[in-house]
Amino acid sequence: MTIKMYNTLTRKKEIFQPIDPKQVKMYVCGPTVYNYIHIGNARPAIVFDTIRRYLEYRGYDVKYLLNFTDIDDKIINEAKQLNEDVETLTNRFITAYKEDVGALGVRPATHHPRVTETIDEIIQFIADLIEKGFAYQVNGDVYYKTREFKNYGKLSAQPLDDLRAGARIQVDEHKKDPLDFALWKAAKQGEIAWSSPWGEGRPGWHIECSVMAKKHLGATIDIHAGGQDLTFPHHENEIAQSEARNGKKFANYWLHNGYITIDDEKMSKSLGNFVLARDLIKQYRPELIRFFMLSVHYRQPINFNDALINQSKQGFDRIVNSYQNVHYRMGSASEGDEQYQAKLLQIKDEFINEMNDDFNTANAISVLYELVKEANLAIENPEVTKASLASFLTLFDQFFSILGLNLTLQDELIDEEIDQLLVERDEARAAKNFARADEIRELLKEQSIILEDTAQGTRWKRG
Ligand SMILES: [Zn+2]
Repeated sequence: MTIKMYNTLTRKKEIFQPIDPKQVKMYVCGPTVYNYIHIGNARPAIVFDTIRRYLEYRGYDVKYLLNFTDIDDKIINEAKQLNEDVETLTNRFITAYKEDVGALGVRPATHHPRVTETIDEIIQFIADLIEKGFAYQVNGDVYYKTREFKNYGKLSAQPLDDLRAGARIQVDEHKKDPLDFALWKAAKQGEIAWSSPWGEGRPGWHIECSVMAKKHLGATIDIHAGGQDLTFPHHENEIAQSEARNGKKFANYWLHNGYITIDDEKMSKSLGNFVLARDLIKQYRPELIRFFMLSVHYRQPINFNDALINQSKQGFDRIVNSYQNVHYRMGSASEGDEQYQAKLLQIKDEFINEMNDDFNTANAISVLYELVKEANLAIENPEVTKASLASFLTLFDQFFSILGLNLTLQDELIDEEIDQLLVERDEARAAKNFARADEIRELLKEQSIILEDTAQGTRWKRG
């Protein structure tokens, strides 16, 4: 079963064929580390982590790079404002980034290269571009000569004249064409700087990804990914630099995730509607946030507000409860053969088909609900065997692991689960399913939960 992915470069879904049939080289543009990440930054972290997980599930050894931009104008300004050195600032926010995305189930990359560790290679790369006639120096700045690169604009697929019309030359820039961009920036007085053949300065933004990708993954990589907003100019410029310097195709598949809006509005400083990932994690269970993000296909825009996440929580709770209930039901299930093999195999195939189709997690989650439906029926089956329930749990675990949902079975019931079990017990009694009602009472007793039936309904307390 082949994997198909939508390639921004060709604007088609293509069958995935990595250069090495066993390995995938994947590069994701990482954050500029000078503040806490908002949910817009959390989205690429989550979706590309999920794609990585799926590729690994399919047996590939995934070399996954995500860089940290740890030098840049915004970083320098922020450090100046806070009166601290750049390194202290960036180290703090790299740690914060790792904490935030880690809480959201994002695994660390194979490697997290930093720009400040790559300066020598960047200088050499720029020198090579000058030598090949693709870059020029003006007053200590070095610019890329976009007119020299014949395929400029191939990723963003817009006429060059339109791109040129949209580009601006800032007052302090000395470039010859509005589309040219800085590879090296001369240092201003008192700024952090490195020595180079063009004087003291620091790298421009785009060059770092070209150099880090080549340094750690080689001249041609399989997948290059990032937010949709990076397509132009960032990724276009990465292609121009890498292909001009290396004489080889830079990346075979370009993946871009869609935007996040807050209450249907773009997140922006002026609207003051930034939602920080760390605030959200305090408010909601991080697995729910991840589940919410994955319930929309990664290329689609996603709207965020509390009502939508609460709506998503209903589905999420159904899944968690079902999983937990299968586990509880094990205690009273009978010995014997597995009874649901064919059904579970079919559900698993459906899930894989959806993931193969451009990593359609939205549809894969619909398949997860089918598993929930079947699991809930199996729990009610008086003859269900332990072996069958174990197969259900295995499949749940596989789906959770691909989606990066860290849902392990809890030995201790949380309040919401107790409430849920009581609702289920009332329903079971109403349906005269006394066996199930007794089972729930037993289960709660094991956990030292004391039930008290009152006229207003069942109350509980911990014993
Ligand atoms: Zn990049």
